[in-house]
Amino acid sequence: MIIVMKSNTNESDIKDVISLVESRGLQTHLSTGSQITIIGVIGDKSRLSDCNIELLNGVDKIVPVTESYKLANKKFHTNSSIVKVGNVEIGGSDFIIMAGPCAIENKKQIIETAHTIKKSGAKILRGGAYKPRTSPYSFQGLEEEGLKYMAKAREETGLPIVCEVTSLKSVETAAKYVDMFQIGARNMQNFYLLKEIGKTNIPVLLKRGLSATIDEWLNAAEYIMSEGNKNVVLCERGIRTFETATRNTLDISAIPVIKQKSHLPIFVDPSHATGKRPYINSLSKASLAAGADGLMIEVHPNPAEALSDGPQSLPPKDFDDLCDELRPFAKLVGKTL
Ligand code: PEP
Ligand code: MN
Repeated sequence: MIIVMKSNTNESDIKDVISLVESRGLQTHLSTGSQITIIGVIGDKSRLSDCNIELLNGVDKIVPVTESYKLANKKFHTNSSIVKVGNVEIGGSDFIIMAGPCAIENKKQIIETAHTIKKSGAKILRGGAYKPRTSPYSFQGLEEEGLKYMAKAREETGLPIVCEVTSLKSVETAAKYVDMFQIGARNMQNFYLLKEIGKTNIPVLLKRGLSATIDEWLNAAEYIMSEGNKNVVLCERGIRTFETATRNTLDISAIPVIKQKSHLPIFVDPSHATGKRPYINSLSKASLAAGADGLMIEVHPNPAEALSDGPQSLPPKDFDDLCDELRPFAKLVGKTL
């Protein structure tokens, strides 16, 4: 439930409410907006049954929160959250593009890519060091060696870096290098992994599971947030449907639905959603128009030779054109790219 305070509430009234709730063994989450102050309550409400919270000084009303996710819920936090990755702000007035190869293949490839995407306007470099491939015989990633190349690319370009983690061990290793963890679609409900990254304060890009509902996705975010890490950015990357023309089906409606249900920023990954280069520009524009906070785009210096996801990767020139194409659309929706 949430306790909505009156607009003229003073700090000591807020403190009194919080102490009473916490004295009953429940957790509180204070959200101070420009208009209203909200105290979110997590735990067994029945412990407050004899408290008459409505009658405390400064309390306006009590609103039940029926959804199982609380910290990720817009009712708990009415203002949109901004997540800082290095010095890049996600969820504000900038439309953020993260780009880079599906997998880090060698030092030259990642460093060259970092320079070209930066020139085009990307603000964050992506690259996979641990690759959760469908076949165990496909390239599995360079692991820590790849992370070192990514860190070198950051040193040269200043771009913060995001890498996927797939196991508890990879979290421990990647934490030494990355500015943002990525949880891939296949691990969205790997709850032990989610809890582990929840114990760090490194921002997380949480991809939607292949067949996950929006509620399941927000509960996955809740797993991370409930451990203390509130720096979560959601990423819609297409879901499994009956359609085979594209690799997955981009659920564009997830953007306004998430904006209504949650305060967390949302990214769109049209590369994995479509699996096909020719559709990326249209869906990037659609995502921007629908209210996404940014995009993740796979870029490879030579997609024909990519060790993974070549058919959906843009060569640098196409990526540059995409950024140019998006700029006037960003301006139209009041964002800067
Ligand atoms: C990726 O971003 O490289 C990736 C594997 O994506 P997803 O988890 O969305 O399939
Ligand atoms: Mn990929």
